[in-house]
Amino acid sequence: METQDYFAYLVDHIHSTVAATTDDSGMPVTCVIDMMDWDENGVYFLTAKGKGFYSRLTKRKFLSVTGMEGESTMTSRSLSLRGSVKEVGPSFLPRLFEKNPYMAEIYPDEASRRALTVFCLYKGTGEWFDLSTKPIQRASFSFGGAESEGEGFFITDRCVLCRLCYSKCPQKCIDISRRPAVIQQENCLRCGNCYDVCLARAIVKRKDL
Ligand code: SF4
Ligand code: SF4
Repeated sequence: METQDYFAYLVDHIHSTVAATTDDSGMPVTCVIDMMDWDENGVYFLTAKGKGFYSRLTKRKFLSVTGMEGESTMTSRSLSLRGSVKEVGPSFLPRLFEKNPYMAEIYPDEASRRALTVFCLYKGTGEWFDLSTKPIQRASFSFGGAESEGEGFFITDRCVLCRLCYSKCPQKCIDISRRPAVIQQENCLRCGNCYDVCLARAIVKRKDL
């Protein structure tokens, strides 16, 4: 999928996400936030200026969100975005209310909407994780000009092709037909079993997983 397909999936299929910010002590704070619209510039959501969420957003200018669709873990598709946010203001409210008519039941008239404002998550990285397929499917992407972080486990030239990693891999997503063996990133759980068992220390871990 393209980046904008992920945005559309988040807004139109998942919609309600768990959103994380940090407080003044640097501790995480989560809340449920609906992702209400998207375009080529990012994903849009609203909040009220009286909320602690608004205060944290304007101070940190950073947000991490995760949403999941599916009736059970084994049928789930999840999407996470993390990155920079900016306040685009109340001029975006009519557009969000038009796309999300249920909001009119919560904020029925113009007077009740005066405290609302809109933010855009415009630059960052994303992670798609689909457990409904076998093997699992995952994808990483970036948007708004952010650098892709390239996370995961990777096999280096130190590989002696002993195949031990393959025997311990729950997804069997290591190509052992060549040396060095290659991890198929799109199917990898990032569990670290391969990393732990490799006696040749041929497997490296990049970034936080
Ligand atoms: S366990 Fe290490 S050395 Fe053996 S095949 Fe896997 S990566 Fe290569
Ligand atoms: S991290 Fe886990 S799923 Fe990924 S290749 Fe290694 S053992 Fe397999």
